[in-house]
Amino acid sequence: MLYRWLTPLFRAGLISTLCGSLVVLPTAYAEQSAGSDKQEVLMAELVGDENVEDVAQSEPLQLLKPQEPSAPVKEPSFPLKEPSASIKEPSASVEKPPAEVQEPSVGATVPSEQPAPREEASSLTLLGSEVPPGTATRLSWSPAIQGAGLSQPTPVLVVNGARPGPTLCLTGAVHGDELNGIEIIRRTIYDLEPAKLSGRVIGVPIVNLPGFQQGSRYLPDRRDLNRHFPGSPDGNLADRIAHSLFENVIRHCDMLVDIHTGSLKRTNLPQLRADMNNPDVAELTRGFDRMAVVHSTGSKGMLRFAAIDAGICAVTMEAGESLRIQEHQIKAGVNSLTSLMDKEGMISRMFVWGDPEPVYYDSEWVRAEHGGILFSETRLGDKVDKGEILGYVSDPITNAQHRIRASSNGRVIGMAVDQVVMAGFAAYHVGTEAEVPAE
Ligand SMILES: [Zn+2]
Repeated sequence: MLYRWLTPLFRAGLISTLCGSLVVLPTAYAEQSAGSDKQEVLMAELVGDENVEDVAQSEPLQLLKPQEPSAPVKEPSFPLKEPSASIKEPSASVEKPPAEVQEPSVGATVPSEQPAPREEASSLTLLGSEVPPGTATRLSWSPAIQGAGLSQPTPVLVVNGARPGPTLCLTGAVHGDELNGIEIIRRTIYDLEPAKLSGRVIGVPIVNLPGFQQGSRYLPDRRDLNRHFPGSPDGNLADRIAHSLFENVIRHCDMLVDIHTGSLKRTNLPQLRADMNNPDVAELTRGFDRMAVVHSTGSKGMLRFAAIDAGICAVTMEAGESLRIQEHQIKAGVNSLTSLMDKEGMISRMFVWGDPEPVYYDSEWVRAEHGGILFSETRLGDKVDKGEILGYVSDPITNAQHRIRASSNGRVIGMAVDQVVMAGFAAYHVGTEAEVPAE
């Protein structure tokens, strides 16, 4: 437990010596350090590692639970939104030339209208701008947390198709050091032809722009943005940024793919994190080609979790490791999103990979029991048997070698790169194939 406290602090450079006290914690955290409840909050903030915690906290699949007779399985646990009910306007302006770059605007809200049966595509009003059907544009989102004139608006790429259809949102770099998603979104969106698209695609490639510029996972106040959704307008910095993004962009989506990478020098096989207990989410995952799906209910504060709460069908995509641009992972992400848009009737892609079927996994982390230097003998994607040696931790002083063995039969879907570790470090993420609850 102490370790979980310490690692993020080391990374943050907040502790000067091993024995030192936490005197240099930022004020925001120091304020929270009194009282055990507040300590829990602080720890949750500091742990901030969805790759480990998200999966560790997941509930088992429904299939494994006794069913309550009064709770029919087929009932979706949330109503999917009517397509973009709050952002429609009559499509009088199909012939409008595409807007180039729109003025940034903040806090745009449009009164709801009753959804009408849609035969023609309509304009999209987003962030105070109108995007006519059949056009693509670049908008700006600013959470208005800085002094006037200092704010750095975050680019939002929008393609409004010439034909009606669902709205797909793509978010990247919620953690500012996770780069693969930025490129996945760029390629996906710039490959789209507005005239051939049914529906809308909204991409926010770099949600955490300050973190991105600093090469940091966190916000300027050291908070993890992905623990603060849907946010609040009068909370802390992270709450406000989360609230602004959620209200101004995310609420316009019917589907959301939030793209991440491994953290803390861990790498992930391209995979979805999805709550397979939710029938609509389970159905959504079938659109992603061969991408592995790891069952994970997520936890409060995560963008995916908040989106589902708001009736938006959401998954997290994990691809590769942080601070790197990895071509193989990026291609897998782009292919999967292309497949999803094809499956949702938004595009017709040129080719398909036969009948790709996703593989569903339950999973667990295998932890290092000793501190030292981790050397792996397995590779990402390898199939492993229970008891098989995955790697070992070598003590550089005593020369002791501690083997780490697989705790179950499965596949290595995430793993740490070779590095110095402490006891308890989550080193290998082993997925075991699971059945999805029957429809
Ligand atoms: Zn992340």
